[in-house]
Amino acid sequence: MSTIKRVEAIPCRAPFRQTFVIGRGSVGAAGGAGQHVFVRVETDCGSVGWGEARALPSWSYETVESIASAIRGYLGPLLIGRSPFDLNAIQRAMYETLTPAVSNGQPFAKSALDIALHDLQGRLTGRPVHALLGGKIRDRVPLCYALSIASPAEMAEQAAAAPECGCFKIKVAGDPETDRERVKSIADARPDAILWLDANQSYHPARLVPFVESVRHIPHIFCLEQPVRSVDWMGMRIARERSPFPIAIDEGCFSSHDVARIAEHRAAELVVLKVCKSGGLRECLKSAAVADAHGLGLLGSGLTESGIGFIASIHLFSTLETLLPPELNGVQFLESMWLKDLHSDGAVITVPDGPGLGVEVDEDAIRRHALTL
Ligand SMILES: [Mg+2]
Repeated sequence: MSTIKRVEAIPCRAPFRQTFVIGRGSVGAAGGAGQHVFVRVETDCGSVGWGEARALPSWSYETVESIASAIRGYLGPLLIGRSPFDLNAIQRAMYETLTPAVSNGQPFAKSALDIALHDLQGRLTGRPVHALLGGKIRDRVPLCYALSIASPAEMAEQAAAAPECGCFKIKVAGDPETDRERVKSIADARPDAILWLDANQSYHPARLVPFVESVRHIPHIFCLEQPVRSVDWMGMRIARERSPFPIAIDEGCFSSHDVARIAEHRAAELVVLKVCKSGGLRECLKSAAVADAHGLGLLGSGLTESGIGFIASIHLFSTLETLLPPELNGVQFLESMWLKDLHSDGAVITVPDGPGLGVEVDEDAIRRHALTL
């Protein structure tokens, strides 16, 4: 049985080709770059697995420096000499080393390693990652596109310019009147599309009620995601009780334990899964199981990951019954996904069936964009 001999963390800058603004500020600007940490895990037989975490501290708290230092100094050494199939023991060691007390315990750093271990397991057994997770239930995964916050007319133009997409995540910004105009303009421009609203914590509960009342008759609104601050559980409860459409939780839900609390407090009807915030693929499956057992619906999204994080999410969401197409937006906003073989047909991605993640990583591109930390 091969064992892990090297874990490398590679911090990078990934250029944006399109500006992306959400309710709490900029995710990235055209001409600028986002920060990512890639991990390369190598076994003594020369097999390599890849993982990725996007560093967006205004969303996730973890920085590119903290992710890289956590992997280099604390988490990566736990893998050395172990089999890539010792995932449960490795996860336990990671959680004991960087404990989710005070904070969430650096799930972004952990998720990068978890993705790489799944990639390695797949490459060593000749099986795709989705098969390691129980198997895909669809061969192709349609995507939901994100609409960056701009004027109502500009956001309607963004939706009209993507006829291949039938579901849009409309970012809103905590201003009831302008947000209503945004939603109305997009609904008028794309009356065929499903509308998934996401406030990214930008509403105070007192301003939220007028907003949801003002858009209640606009057709095809499926849900409103994370209307209030991540720590405001009572605000989420108010939103759920007063909203005419379901409330989804994202920034307030990182783990299966959070899902249990959400169910107990009736703080949302829908749970947004992200590989990066959960500490990895199997942790997402745990959250999904707890949500399902409590009658909570599942949605999937990402955090402008490049190809490695993106395709790991495709594998995961090919195995789950999400209520809407997952919103995995790196393909929309990044200049390159740094994969040599990403198969997409408009807004639909073919689930890879090759070993591991089933894609060829453009390692040269990653190293060309590496940061020295
Ligand atoms: Mg969200």
